[in-house]
Amino acid sequence: MVWLWNRIFGEPRRIEIEERDEKQTRVPLRATETGPPDLMCRVCRYEGPERYCPTCLADTMKEVRRKRP
Ligand SMILES: [Zn+2]
Repeated sequence: MVWLWNRIFGEPRRIEIEERDEKQTRVPLRATETGPPDLMCRVCRYEGPERYCPTCLADTMKEVRRKRP
């Protein structure tokens, strides 16, 4: 009857652990993907994720290609 117990109570817990593991593996991936801001104002050189520069109040942000070590 142990197999029946595992089938009823074991599998949901295993699914829960698998989901948790999946989240833990996703977080570092997402962190490396987003990382630091990759937009920079071509006028005042402000760096941030905004499309519009908050200093110049204009659409002056351009993408920055960062060199990865
Ligand atoms: Zn600016």
